[in-house]
Amino acid sequence: MVETRRIDGKAFAEGLRARIGKEVTGFLAETGVRPGLAVVLVGEDPASSVYVRNKAKQTAEAGMASFEYKLPADEPEAAVLALVEALNRDPGVHGILVQLPLPAHIDAQKVLATIDPAKDVDGFHVVNAGRLAIGLEALVPCTPLGCVMLLKHELGPLAGLKAVVLGRSNIVGKPVAQLLLREDCTVTIAHSRTRDLPGECRQADILIAAVGRPEMVRGDWIKPGATVIDVGINRVVGDAGTSRLVGDVAFAEAQGIAGAITPVPGGVGPMTIACLLQNTLTAARRIQRATSS
Ligand code: NDP
Repeated sequence: MVETRRIDGKAFAEGLRARIGKEVTGFLAETGVRPGLAVVLVGEDPASSVYVRNKAKQTAEAGMASFEYKLPADEPEAAVLALVEALNRDPGVHGILVQLPLPAHIDAQKVLATIDPAKDVDGFHVVNAGRLAIGLEALVPCTPLGCVMLLKHELGPLAGLKAVVLGRSNIVGKPVAQLLLREDCTVTIAHSRTRDLPGECRQADILIAAVGRPEMVRGDWIKPGATVIDVGINRVVGDAGTSRLVGDVAFAEAQGIAGAITPVPGGVGPMTIACLLQNTLTAARRIQRATSS
C-alpha cells in the first residue's frame, strides 16, 4: 500500500499569485503599463457574484487594475456586446472575462466571439481554442492550465505518461487533453458514452476527473501510484441536512492507492483564479510587445 500525497493547490496558488505580483511590479516599472482585467457580470447569480468578488480582490492584490461591470439580469444582448467592444478598444484593459452562465436571452457564444482573442483571458474564443489545438501560442483556459501546473510540479516532465481525462467539455476536458498532448502524454478522453470507464481509468498514470458527478470515480478505478487531479466541485447534502463540497473522486477510497491526489476543496479550485491572473499578465505582455514593435 502506498502513502498517498495530498496535492495542496491552495498553497501552490498562493505562491503563484505572489510571483505574479512581483512580475507585475517589474512589468510596470519597465513599461509604465499596469495590467488590467475587466470582469463583466450580468444578473445576480449568487455563485457568480462570489467568484467575481474574489477575482476582483485577487486582481487588485496582485497589483493589477481591476474593472468590474455589474449589469442587470434583463440587460439587452446588444448592450453587453457594445460593452465588450468598448473594452476591446480600451488600452487600459488587457484581459476581458464575461462571467458564465449568462441569462437565457443572451447568446453566450456570440458574446465570447466578440471578445478580442488577444484579451480573451478565459481562453474560450474559437481562435484561442484553435491555436491551442494546432500548437500555436494561445491564451489557455484557466482551470486546465492550473491542472497541468500542479501535475508538472508533482511529477516533473510528463512525457510518455498515459493520461486519461474524464469529461470532454470545452471549458475543462478538451483543453486539458490538448495541454497534456502538448506535454507529450498519451491521452485518452472518456465521456458518458465510453465503454468500461473503470477499465479506461485503471490504465492511467495521470487521471483527471471533470464530470460533475459526486465521487463517481471509485478507489478501485485508480491504478496504484497514479496521480489524480479532481476538478469536480459538487455540493452534496448529508444526513444532518448540512451541505458540503465533494469532488468527482471518492477521496477517502483513493487513499493508499493513488500516489497523489488533489483534495476538494483546496486542490484545483484555487488554481483557477491564479491562472486567470497569469493569463492577464501574459496578455498584457503580448499586447505591449505588439504595440511597441
Ligand atoms: P460539463 O457538464 O460541461 O461536462 C461534463 C463532462 O462529463 C461531459 O463531457 C460528460 O460527457 C461527462 N460525463 C457526465 N457524466 C458522466 C458519466 N456518468 N460518465 C462519464 N462521463 C460523464 O462540466 P464541466 O467540464 O464544465 O465541469 C466538470 C466539473 O468540474 C464540474 O463539477 C464543475 O463544477 C467543475 N469545474 C471546476 C472548476 C474549478 O475551478 N475547479 C472550473 C470548471 C469546472 P458527455 O459529453 O458525453 O455528456
